[in-house]
Amino acid sequence: MTKNLESEADPWPELFWVGGVLWVDFANSQSLERLNLGSVLESRDSVQSWFGRNFDEVNLEELAELRSLMAEGVSKFHVGSPELATAIERVNVILRSSAGYDQIRQTGDHFEVARVYESPLAVVAGSFANFLAGGDFGRVRKCAEPTCTLHFFDESKAGRRKWCSMSQCGNRAKATNHYRKTRSAGSN
Ligand SMILES: [Zn+2]
Repeated sequence: MTKNLESEADPWPELFWVGGVLWVDFANSQSLERLNLGSVLESRDSVQSWFGRNFDEVNLEELAELRSLMAEGVSKFHVGSPELATAIERVNVILRSSAGYDQIRQTGDHFEVARVYESPLAVVAGSFANFLAGGDFGRVRKCAEPTCTLHFFDESKAGRRKWCSMSQCGNRAKATNHYRKTRSAGSN
């Protein structure tokens, strides 16, 4: 997801934005909280900071519930899985009771209709619903670094993205491989 925080430096570390799509970033924030890298659901302010806008309605409890549903389901979402059925049911309930409105957005010479929601809960639900309608769950993967629990939506053309972040896990994996190679070369 691309953040637009005017002139202000983004207070959230890079790992909060590696998911490629909002609902995956939101699910990842649960792991990042456990690593003490920042707590999105700490307060109304932290929620608004992460989403980059103000909301009339912020329900931390419901956000936490939706987040654990997404975080625990992210690697199990595929057509026919019970985790996906549960998520769809929950997201539909949220969307049914959410006020929202359509807005025209322009990117270059391309226009699209984007729905704007009044609560962060509905923003996440909307992101998930849009992804389900147009994205590809086969391209939502866990980072290849074994100790990393972050997920991402692979938007690369070849579909071979391996790491959540090149600067974090990518380099760590390369360093480990290099270490193994030099060690085995030395023991010959
Ligand atoms: Zn990673």
